[in-house]
Amino acid sequence: MVDDYETLLNRGLAKIKDSNPSGRFEMPVAEVETHGQRTIVRNFAQIADKFRRETQHLLKFFQKELATSGSIENGQAIFLGNITSSLITRKLTDYANEFVFCKACGQPDTKMATEDKNEMLVCWACGAKRQIRNLR
Ligand SMILES: [Zn+2]
Repeated sequence: MVDDYETLLNRGLAKIKDSNPSGRFEMPVAEVETHGQRTIVRNFAQIADKFRRETQHLLKFFQKELATSGSIENGQAIFLGNITSSLITRKLTDYANEFVFCKACGQPDTKMATEDKNEMLVCWACGAKRQIRNLR
């Protein structure tokens, strides 16, 4: 009986940890390759997953910020042009600051929502809300 209770308790705790990975967030590291005039980010979809954002949203951000065109193939992003991995890394940080991290509490546990045609970033951890750039 005690074991059952502990199992349930552990399951409950595991759930809480899953939905609130506060303090354990590590910035994803982009795997960048350049082939001639194309730059490939091999783990692009994984990075978007880690941020819990749509791959297409992250792609739009990069297209705007790098002023180039890009596409997704098998989870990899392919951009036109020769883009350094340090620039990609910097833009990932910019994206996280703008679209992932809560400015009030600094946690990455946020979601995007649309309110009155405005894009909002809503924090699960503290409830803060702020308007974010609409990339569409
Ligand atoms: Zn917050």
